[in-house]
Parts: sequence; structure tokens; C-alpha cells
Amino acid sequence: MKRPFKGLRGKAPEQTYDAVIVGAGIGGLICANLLAREGLSVLLVEQHYMVGGYCSTFRRKGFTFDAATHFYPLLGNPATITGKLLRELGVTNGWVKMDPVDHFHFPDGSTFAVPADFDTYVSKLKQEFPHEAESLDQFFVLVRELYLSGLLTYFRWRETDRLGHYSQMTVRQALDRHFRDPKLKLLLAADCGHWGSPPSRTSFVFDSMLRLSYFLGNYYPRGGSQAFADELALRFEELGGHILTSASVNRIVVRNKYASGVEINTRIPDQTYRVNAGVVISNADLLLTLEKLIAAEHLDRDRVASIRTLRPTHPCFLVHVGLKGMATEELRAAHGYHWDSWDSDRVATNSFKIFVPTLYEPAMAPAGGHIVIVQKLTAIDYDSIDDWAMHKAKVEAYIMENLERVMPGFTEKVVVKLSASALTSHRYTANHQGAMRGWEMSPDQLGSRRPALNGMLKNLYFVGHWTQPGGGITPVIVSAMQVARKISGRQSEFANAFSVNPLMKSANIRGAFTKLQ
Ligand SMILES: Cc1cc2nc3c(=O)[nH]c(=O)nc-3n(C[C@H](O)[C@H](O)[C@H](O)COP(=O)(O)OP(=O)(O)OC[C@H]3O[C@@H](n4cnc5c(N)ncnc54)[C@H](O)[C@@H]3O)c2cc1C
Repeated sequence: MKRPFKGLRGKAPEQTYDAVIVGAGIGGLICANLLAREGLSVLLVEQHYMVGGYCSTFRRKGFTFDAATHFYPLLGNPATITGKLLRELGVTNGWVKMDPVDHFHFPDGSTFAVPADFDTYVSKLKQEFPHEAESLDQFFVLVRELYLSGLLTYFRWRETDRLGHYSQMTVRQALDRHFRDPKLKLLLAADCGHWGSPPSRTSFVFDSMLRLSYFLGNYYPRGGSQAFADELALRFEELGGHILTSASVNRIVVRNKYASGVEINTRIPDQTYRVNAGVVISNADLLLTLEKLIAAEHLDRDRVASIRTLRPTHPCFLVHVGLKGMATEELRAAHGYHWDSWDSDRVATNSFKIFVPTLYEPAMAPAGGHIVIVQKLTAIDYDSIDDWAMHKAKVEAYIMENLERVMPGFTEKVVVKLSASALTSHRYTANHQGAMRGWEMSPDQLGSRRPALNGMLKNLYFVGHWTQPGGGITPVIVSAMQVARKISGRQSEFANAFSVNPLMKSANIRGAFTKLQ
């Protein structure tokens, strides 16, 4: 696949950078742009041959499939913090606004489409559930309050007690407290597959933040996920950044308790490089970073052990299908979450989601074609599966049977079909157990109880969904913004840090931090 950015293409990286970023997921790409914009010399290292992590695409028989992510809240709206950031970074990629935002298909055969306008949405809910109208009003007043307090607490790291006991409340508890109608309760949690965890283990505050963000615009990237990731890479190069793809960081070098560089193995040519760095930022899986990339003697064992006890989100099984001759209206009608239980906690066993990217971006398929991507959470014990082929065949058969049930004749229209299990997610991104969004966003795994952006070692930072504030595109971008802010705020201090860091002292430092000395 042709990519717009150059990359180092077989050239060796410099000996020293102000910052080295491990992993070019959206967290790594945004952080790289922000630091390069500040004038830092930055190297972005990605093990895969393309950038984007869970926001990449692959191509088969003329169909371009999003590997994972397809809902990009806020990014097409320049009035929002993340939408504005993209404009500031010069990202010109177009965004297709979704309206309706989502579709739900219930066990009794009824459906509900969520309009993109908030007031229309609430009116529609009240029309359908008049006996719950008062509770709906109270519920959404609370959701709005928690949205604002949640932004302050989790996205701006403000010390505030505004959340009170709601910080401990799950989506399940909030719904049970407000409503009696089982259908309304499912409707208000029907997109919980998106969280990678059931409502009984998902924070009501975080859910409120995402729920309302959809009404500020939910988007699909023009040209698909890769177009967005590639443009971030291109902008980064224009700012002077270096990108090394097909290159794994095998080790984060630690000297005197400082992260001071990385060891990189490139595939073409097969070469190992040692690169010095003022700061190292890991966008890679957190356990991989702490347990494989850093030698154990440099870390507080108890802290690493306590991180190991956190619960990851479920992995998401995917079936990617390229179709010919399928009616657009039939696909539009089938689009969305399908439930065959009224209990939203059964998200990993009794629901799946049909997404049709070609409804937003027809160019993802050859003329007259369509793409269907099915997402299904799987409740698996990752380490105990020894026959992944059998697991894959079983889940794929379940999904294909359901596609045929929902759209009779579907199977005959299939041109190409591929499936991805938790193992596939792990193979391409190295995410622990193929988890979808890092650690669960449960009340006990948010805020200060989620691994912090820094503090494990001097000059070592984390961005992405395994750190604060949480998983999903918006929180991941927020983590990158916060890390870039922390590092930029240290420019003057860095001059000193380098002088006490033996490696940096001896290195031929050419970066922006040094220029400030
Ligand atoms: C199926 C699925 C659907 C999703 N849908 C949505 C959605 O619609 N909306 C939404 O907001 N979120 C969605 N998410 C979640 C979202 O995609 C993630 O939370 C987010 O993309 C994570 O970004 P990241 O930067 O933290 O990491 P990742 O995307 O995981 O990127 C990490 C990168 O680090 C690289 N790497 C790892 N180890 C090394 C190493 N040693 N050396 C060099 N490179 C390394 C990896 O190859 C990878 O490119 C979905 C996730 C999945 C799996």
C-alpha cells in the first residue's frame, strides 16, 4: 500500500534525539507531532510496516478494510478540543459525520436509531418510553453534569470532588437506579460493546463523557483509518520528525535511574541500533514495556505487580467481508448492534455489531461493492486457548450464520472474507491479550488508580490506552497532549537532566533541548 510519508527507508537513525517514541498508534503519532512542533528532535519507531496501530487498514481484492477503529468522535468538529488540535497540526483529512450515530436491533425484532442531535434523541426516547419521561429528564441532567465534571477530573487532571460518589458508580448501577423498563435499560447501554467491558464493570462517568461526545459529532475518516494515521505521520515528517517502520524497540536503556535511550532492531536491513534519547515515550503495550523492554532491576517490582492485577478490556473478534451485488438499503437496515438478550451485561456473549464503512466512504470498495465489518467481543481466557484456528472457525461460523439470518442471501454476495481473533490483534499491535481498549474503564481502574503517564523512571512517559485517562481515540489523544505538555514544560530543566545523565553528557546532542542551554 502506497504511503504518503517517507520514513527513514533503510537509512540509519541519528545517534541522539530529544525524544524517542515507541509505537506509532494514534497516541504515539499525536505526541510525536506535538513534540516536533515544539522544536524537539523526535524519532518515532514502529514495529509494523505501517503506522496507526488499531487505526490502520489493510487491502484485499480491491477492498480496503479498517483493521479495528471506525468511530472517531469529535475529530471532525473544530469546536472541540481534539478537533481543534487536528486543525492546529495542519491535518486536512476529511471527516464524514454520522447521522444516525448508531442503530440498535433488539431481541424482539424492534430497532432504534440514535439521531445525531441530542434534543431530538431525548424527545425520541420520551416518545417511545412515555412512562419513563421524568426519569429520562433526571438521568440526562445528571449525565450532563458528570460529562463536565468528568472532563475536569479525568481529562484535565484537576483535583476536584465534584464527582462525589458517582466516581464509583457503574453504568449498570446508574441505569438500575433511574429506570424500570428493561428495553430502555438495554437501549441506553446497547453500545456498551464499544467499551470492551460490560455495563456492570464500566464507569458511569466515563460512559457519560462518551455518550454526550457523540452529539458533538461522531465521524468516519475520509479514505478510512489509514488516511488519518498516514496524514499524522506526514505532518510529523514535515516538522522534521523521523519515522522508522518495521523496527522494534527491544530495550529501553536505563542509566542512573534515567531512561536514556533505546535499542532498536530493524528488519530491512536486519540491524540493531542504539539511540540516545532525552526522553523515552512508550505508546506500546504497558506490560510489554515494563516487563520486556526494561530490565527488572530498574523498576519497583511491587508497582509492576500491581499493574499486572488490572483487568484488560475484552478483545474484539472481527470479520471483514467484501461484497458484490448487495443492496445498499439492505445493509443500511442491518447496520448497528444486534442483541438477542435483554441483559446488557451479556455483551460478550449475546451481541455483535455490523458496521458498513461504505455507507460513509464508498471508495473503500471497488465500484458496486460494499464492505461489512462485524465486531464481536469475546469473553475468552487468552492464555488457555491452544487451538486458535478452532476458536477462529467457531466464532466466524457464528457470525456468518447471523449475517445470513439478518440478510438472507448474504453469503452468496461475499467476494472476500477474513477474520481476526485476539491473537491477530496481539500479533499486529502487541496489545496484551489482544485487548481492545487497554485496561477496563471501570470505576476502580480510572483516575489515580490507572497507571500514570510518568513516574516509573525518570524521563520515561506513557501514552495510549494503557495509561491515564483511558481507552478509545479521544482519551488516547488526551494522554498524548498531556505528555507533550509535561515534556515541553521541562525544556529548561532538561538541560540539567542531560548533564547529570552520563549517557547524554557524552552524547553528541544536537536537539532543541540542548539548543536552549
Ligand atoms: C476492534 C476495535 C475497534 C475499536 N473501535 C473503536 C472506535 O470505533 N472508536 C474508538 O474511539 N476506539 C475504538 N477502539 C479502541 C482504540 O482503537 C484504541 O483505544 C486506540 O486506537 C489505541 O491507541 P494507542 O495509540 O494507545 O495504541 P495502539 O493503536 O495499540 O498502537 C500501539 C503501537 O505500538 C506499536 N508497538 C508495540 N510494541 C512496539 C515495539 N516494541 N516497538 C515498536 N513499536 C511497537 C504497535 O505496533 C502499535 O502500532 C477499537 C479497538 C478495537 C480493537
